[in-house]
Amino acid sequence: MFENTQQIPIDKKILDAANFVTCFKCGSEEFRSVEKIKVISKIAAGSKTDMLVPISAMQCIGCKHVFTDGEMNDMIEVAKMEITKH
Ligand SMILES: [Zn+2]
Repeated sequence: MFENTQQIPIDKKILDAANFVTCFKCGSEEFRSVEKIKVISKIAAGSKTDMLVPISAMQCIGCKHVFTDGEMNDMIEVAKMEITKH
């Protein structure tokens, strides 16, 4: 879900002026990509075995919280609001 974030070349001045997304729980600016795994039963999947589906998520390095997409979007909105204050 975050595959395309680094693909577009960005003007350095624009990048320098941009804010880091910060964790809403602890204020950390450092995150890492983690995977959660959903299991789909073989009955629901229509296959011979149960299926495991990895789901990408972001985890805070500071407090270890794993964010939902909604929480991530909220933090992105906050970081965007900070830009307009300057
Ligand atoms: Zn945190």
